[in-house]
Amino acid sequence: MPPTSQPKLVTTVAELRAALDSVRRSGKTIGLVPTMGALHEGHLSLVRKSKQECGYTVVSIYVNPSQFAAGEDLDEYPRALRADLDALAECGVELAFVPENDEVYRPRHATWVEVGGVAEPLEGQCRPGHFRGVATIVLKLLNMVRPDAAYFGQKDYQQALVIRQMVEDLDVPVELRVCPTVREPDGLAMSSRNAYLGADARQRSLVLFRSLELAERLVADGQRDAQSILDQMRQVILAADDARIDYIALADPDTLEPVDEINGPVVALLAVHIENTRLIDNLILKL
Ligand code: AMP
Repeated sequence: MPPTSQPKLVTTVAELRAALDSVRRSGKTIGLVPTMGALHEGHLSLVRKSKQECGYTVVSIYVNPSQFAAGEDLDEYPRALRADLDALAECGVELAFVPENDEVYRPRHATWVEVGGVAEPLEGQCRPGHFRGVATIVLKLLNMVRPDAAYFGQKDYQQALVIRQMVEDLDVPVELRVCPTVREPDGLAMSSRNAYLGADARQRSLVLFRSLELAERLVADGQRDAQSILDQMRQVILAADDARIDYIALADPDTLEPVDEINGPVVALLAVHIENTRLIDNLILKL
């Protein structure tokens, strides 16, 4: 293995701008991978894509308080900076941007990005204010880094649509890349929050992917009635003790409007609490 060098660790916007100005002058393209840290293979798949496509990769690690509501897991959210920097070094990432809260939200911060449309259903209903926080931090990071391309995961399907909407509506000059969901061998979508699951809950969490696979199979077998598919998905999920469903939906992949009869591509999305952990997942179902 070639020796790995740690990414340049930057904590202020001024330092970030100075470092990236000289990168841009050298003619390299810049890729940005925004994350909240506690990095896993899902994150690293985005990093590797950026490394393939761009001359210089910036990974931001920032647990953004404004996308957590009161009572959510902001304080418990896993933090693992040392291990994250090692993982980024192995991927050959050039720069890690790890700002403190007061560098991102300066005193008297008063501007927020409010996306309508695709931000409104599903997560928008269950987590009011969440996408406002996400859109605001992503726009700020895009303005701080000014990347040529920014990388997001399909794991957060609605989030990727919200960011696309914002980028189009606000004419943000960036290429968005949405990369496939990386899963554990048994199908559970990788997530930093999986660390909350005890052995028992970890086993029960498999019902999310099982229900998505069931939907995929039903559609492939010719079922067209969304309600019937949703009912069968619900049964699979509720077979797990203590599972609590926030939503299960079959929706148009672009608009997230609910689909009644399936006669084109559709995305199945769900949010389920297993014990105290809220998990989300999705799958595009093809006819
Ligand atoms: P997070 O740290 O959870 O905010 O995620 C940062 C980025 O990684 C987001 O664009 C996520 O969609 C993406 N991501 C998280 N988990 C996965 C996964 N299992 N597969 C692919 N991308 C992921």
